[in-house]
Order: sequence, then C-alpha cells, then structure tokens
Amino acid sequence: MSKYSIIITAGGIGKRMGSSLPKQFIAINDKPLLMHTIEKFYHFDPKVQIVITLPEEWREYWEALIADHNFKIPHRVVAGGKERFHSIKNALEYCYGDYISIHDGVRPLVSHDTMKNCVKVLHKHDAVIPVIAVVDSMRMKNEKTTKAVDRTDYLLVQTPQCFKKEVITAAYEQQYHKGITDDASLVEEAGYKIKTVEGNIENIKITNQSDLKYAGLFLK
Ligand code: C5P
Repeated sequence: MSKYSIIITAGGIGKRMGSSLPKQFIAINDKPLLMHTIEKFYHFDPKVQIVITLPEEWREYWEALIADHNFKIPHRVVAGGKERFHSIKNALEYCYGDYISIHDGVRPLVSHDTMKNCVKVLHKHDAVIPVIAVVDSMRMKNEKTTKAVDRTDYLLVQTPQCFKKEVITAAYEQQYHKGITDDASLVEEAGYKIKTVEGNIENIKITNQSDLKYAGLFLK
C-alpha cells in the first residue's frame, strides 16, 4: 500500500503580521493556528506521516504549547531554514512517503474536498496543485502605468501541493534562487508537468490581522 507524507511548513517568523509572536502560534478560537492546520490533515488521513518545520528558536515554545493544549497528534519537528525552500529541503530528508504533499502551516482553512481533489488524481500525475479562479479584475504593472489583462488567463495557487516522492526530491536537488514562491514552480523548472485541481476559496494564507478574524469565523 502506498505511503503518504505531509510537510506542514511553519519555519518562518512572519514579519508582515506585525506581531512579535510568529503567526503560526497565534491562537484562533483558543488554539494555536498551526494545531488547526495539523488537525485538518490528520482528520483527512490518520495514517499520514506528518512532518512540520519550525524556526529552531521556537521549538521549545511549541513543546510548551503541545503540553498546554494536550495536543496528541503524532508529528515530527524539523528545523526551518533561512527561506521556505531551505525549510522544505530539510523536511524532505525525513519523509518516508511514496507521495509527499507540502502545505503552508498558515493555511488552516484547507477543506476536505481540496485534499480529496488532490489525492484522487495524484497516482496518475507527477504533481498536483489546488488552484482557484481569479474573480477580481486584474491589471499588469508597467514602469509608469498599468494595463488591464484578461483574468481568465490566470489562476491563484494554493497548497497542499502534492508530488510523487522522486519528483519533489529531484526538484529540491536544484539550487536555490530568489523568486521561488511555491514548490510547483520548482518542480516545473526541473522539467515536470503540473496538474491543477479545484481548491477552496477560504484556503487563504493567513498574512494579516483581518485574515485571523476571518479564520476565526470559519473555524468556529
Ligand atoms: O512568508 P510566506 O507567507 O510566504 O510563508 C509561507 C509559509 O512558508 C509559512 O507557513 C511560513 O512559515 C513558511 N516558511 C518556512 N520557512 C521559512 C519562511 C517561511 O517554512 N524560512
């Protein structure tokens, strides 16, 4: 039987939130954001191997949160790196799955359907990612002005991004360079094709205070 691993990456310290506590630890409805995210994957598949990345200097804090919240979901903690790329590269060393998914720790609103959409087609594709259509109008920035573009040419990309083990391993053998914002772009650079499936609109990356309020309402 195939084995599955999920890397839930929370190796950043989230400077944009304007809080001294990294956003993955901020409580939403009395529970740290990262615990909500881990629960989503565990409840989808209790047999999945869960590997999380955390900033090394926040590891003890996480241990204390686990004790305070009596958090029992089994997971391995791996040190985060300088950039997201380095955090994932570290985590990949510990994954034993034939299929490896990667999820931003700060996306606690991922739905069961999004996870199901990804897993359903993963055995037929090297790489599967959830996307959603753009609903706002879009403009492209030029040096001095902006220009309307056709929004149907674009898709918004979410996580979890799911890969065959050999595909994601090969992608992460490449050198780090600036401008990598997700795993799929790295996999594409390594020469693989990306299959898109439908994500869920609430699956936002918690970035600012209003995102936290939004997440609080959804997780009630
Ligand atoms: O910074 P950004 O919002 O793009 O981060 C997306 C995800 O990547 C977050 O869950 C963050 O904790 C993670 N990350 C990481 N290691 C870093 C920087 C960010 O795991 N060095």
